[in-house]
Amino acid sequence: MDIIPISQPDLKEDEINAVIDVLKSGIIVQGEKTKQLEQLFTEICGTRYAIAVNSGTAALHTALHSTGIGPGDEVITSPFTFGATANSILMVGAKPVFVDIELDSFNIDSSKIERAITKNTKAILPINLYGQPADYAELHTIAKKYNLIIVEDAAQSVGSKYNNIASGNLGDLGCFSLYATKNIMCGEGGIVTTNSKQFYEKAKLFRNHGQSENERYNYHSLGYNYRLTDIASAIGVKQVKKLTQYTKRRQAIAKKYNAAFSGLDGIRIPIVKPNRIHVFHQYTIIVTDESKLSRDELQRYLQEKNIQTNIYYPKPLNEFDHFRSNGKFPFADRAAKQVLSIPVHPQLTDEQIDYIISTLSNI
Ligand SMILES: *Cc1c(COP(=O)(O)O)cnc(C)c1O
Repeated sequence: MDIIPISQPDLKEDEINAVIDVLKSGIIVQGEKTKQLEQLFTEICGTRYAIAVNSGTAALHTALHSTGIGPGDEVITSPFTFGATANSILMVGAKPVFVDIELDSFNIDSSKIERAITKNTKAILPINLYGQPADYAELHTIAKKYNLIIVEDAAQSVGSKYNNIASGNLGDLGCFSLYATKNIMCGEGGIVTTNSKQFYEKAKLFRNHGQSENERYNYHSLGYNYRLTDIASAIGVKQVKKLTQYTKRRQAIAKKYNAAFSGLDGIRIPIVKPNRIHVFHQYTIIVTDESKLSRDELQRYLQEKNIQTNIYYPKPLNEFDHFRSNGKFPFADRAAKQVLSIPVHPQLTDEQIDYIISTLSNI
């Protein structure tokens, strides 16, 4: 039996043909396909604007830059995330300030944010981890009180909702990744969403060396080459059209897993908090102290049974020197030791799902 992978890009005839069309058109960078992808993201998110860039990291960097955050400023985020989240804060010269997570949702614990705010705090950067939005009602209350910007790390949450508002439209700016393993992808790519014309204009300059779209070689401000290719955008456009179908399949698989695993000792199934639509970028269980096998033993066992799993994330970011954090984050520490993500991508067959369920249940 072949190994069941933790993620698998869905590239079919329509993506392949779309790429061939772009190659034949001769316009392969930031052309009509990229515009179309941006338009589709404004529709998914319900935002006024969307700016395509060439990675999720570039989206985070562009978003933070657009707000004017820089040296001397602090940005509050969670340490239980991919390195790109906090790296983007360093990239604008600001300081990441970590706040611990909630153990049920794995998202930033909004009740602990206020004590981390200083006179230098400019923004909150919540991650909608595994596809579930953070607690935006509370985040907005805090942001309003202290005049902070909210930038969503929405790399894992395309299509998710909080109080019926789409991810990407839950803060002042939203940042998506279209990396190969995400819910929709184009190899490498990213999108910034916003309702602010000012942020939008700044973001557009930033992705192309400070040049405006209709006047080259006139550099208004610092910028990078964060342009997306139309080759990638063509794939992205096809993927967006399948987003609803993908999301439904992920949710259906999660539901099956929940039913099968909720009675098992030693594992805790993912919790969906009130008013959220979870899009299950990952289906992540907690291997509790009651489990006969440790988390790492369970992972090795599943690997022997040809089920690939992964640990997102094995080490909280506060433990890395360059983030210069000396706080304590007990729940992030605990999550790093106990989480295990099992395959939940839409390409899984019913046989594979049943096999994963029986293998885990039999332990
Ligand atoms: C994937 C990811 C990113 C970075 O996206 P890239 O496209 O890989 O640059 C940022 N934050 C989180 C939470 C991610 O999962």
